Amino acid sequence: MIDAAEIIRSRTSILFVTLDSLRYDTARTAYDTGLTPHLATLLPDGGWERRQTPGTFTLPAHMAFFSGFLPKLPQPDQPPRLWECRPPAFKTVPPQTFVFDAPNLPAGLAQHGYRSICVGGVTYFSRETPLGSVLPDLFDEDHWSPEFCSPEPDSTRHQVDRAVEIADQYDGKPLYLFVNVSATHVPHGHYLGDSHDSRASQQAALAYADTHLARLITTLTTQHRWLIILCADHGDAYGEDGYHGRGIAHPVVMNVPYAAMIR
Ligand SMILES: [Zn+2]
Repeated sequence: MIDAAEIIRSRTSILFVTLDSLRYDTARTAYDTGLTPHLATLLPDGGWERRQTPGTFTLPAHMAFFSGFLPKLPQPDQPPRLWECRPPAFKTVPPQTFVFDAPNLPAGLAQHGYRSICVGGVTYFSRETPLGSVLPDLFDEDHWSPEFCSPEPDSTRHQVDRAVEIADQYDGKPLYLFVNVSATHVPHGHYLGDSHDSRASQQAALAYADTHLARLITTLTTQHRWLIILCADHGDAYGEDGYHGRGIAHPVVMNVPYAAMIR
């Protein structure tokens, strides 16, 4: 079990990656059939856990994540949360959970000497609109450019290049480095040479991102220990039961891949 209190008291940097819209079944099949060989060497034994997201689209899912609510196991019994914002006095927090006296995780980590950095992907991180500034505003600094966004076929390379560059710049300071990977968000049909988005093209997008995500993790962890959390914010429907897209409580949207490890 990951001891978040030990991580934070020892000022261990934290990498939090959301693979936007990545369905659990897509990630699981890619892992099982060897389409993500680089990530497979880095993920815990067995690969992705199936978890359920607290939000059906990017905004509520990330608001929950940044408030301390990560995806939960699809079962009644849950392990203690890694961290949470200080609850009202009547609620008991398990001793394994690290409590921040702050309204969100970046602000809480700042009280412990961390710098929070957002490398955005989809337009909820782009600052192109007032709503697109809500999530980036939670961080000490945020980065976004059109080449980080899903229409760009080499988006993950550009995002990882920027993330590595920033981490290098703050070498020695504890970081909360967040990256929203946009490649798995529509449009991704172009990874199969098609204008049509499908589960198969999302899988091809993940296979594309595999090398770059592994490069991010191995580069960061060459000299220092990091806590790494990878998950999707929500899934995406491609016609199951007639549904398309996200923002709906369908199992293909609610079930997400999740992995947490110390490297
Ligand atoms: Zn999303």
